[in-house]
Amino acid sequence: METIHTVEARALVELQKRDTALDALRARAADIPRKVKAAEAAFAGKKAEMLGAREAYLALQSRKKDLELRIAEAEEGIRKHQLQLNQVKDNSAFKALLAEIETDKAAKDELETGVLTLLDEIDRASGQDKALQAEVKKVEEAKNAEVAALQAAAVAVAAELAAAEGVRAAAAAAITPELVERYEAVRANRAGLAVVAVHEEPATGKLSCGGCHMAVTPQKAVDVKKPDTLTYCPDCRRLLYREKTLFGQG
Ligand SMILES: [Zn+2]
Repeated sequence: METIHTVEARALVELQKRDTALDALRARAADIPRKVKAAEAAFAGKKAEMLGAREAYLALQSRKKDLELRIAEAEEGIRKHQLQLNQVKDNSAFKALLAEIETDKAAKDELETGVLTLLDEIDRASGQDKALQAEVKKVEEAKNAEVAALQAAAVAVAAELAAAEGVRAAAAAAITPELVERYEAVRANRAGLAVVAVHEEPATGKLSCGGCHMAVTPQKAVDVKKPDTLTYCPDCRRLLYREKTLFGQG
């Protein structure tokens, strides 16, 4: 079947327009959960970054505590050895104790330098921790607002979709079932687009398929200019019509 003459041609074109609008609406509906997921993921990423910074900050503080503990131990060692200095009579034992005290003091100095370095790092980490916490709070607020808006949009789109599907079903029911069946078969194979207007080159009047853009043969160009006529595109098998002819504008 290459050409269809039917008074239902216009109704089929209208059905395609409804279906195209419905497909766009369904795509919008399907897009909403994806957008919600993306917003949640962006927030989760920021939150993970914040937790990482917090962990780093706490690790630095625990390292500082550890150093302070070792400083206290070194001080205890120094004090003990200084007490022992008063009790030894032996010169070599005295010297050994002095050496021990020097070693403890050197260790204590090194540990204190370590604490100073850590204090700088803790300062930076604390600043980063606070900045990230503030940022996460902001991101969370923005995310919550976005998700709420998306959920409201989902409700609205669902209502719009239900109404449009009802109108579409009634429109399809008014067309001969075999014609709808053929239309559906092409639609299934052509990404939802079964009926397309031919494109008319203004300068030359040459026609091409509005779906695959291939030139329309001279015979088909004649056919498509007849009233109430649809013709198949030989290349993509979509149903072609001419806007001016079918909708009576010349
Ligand atoms: Zn085509």
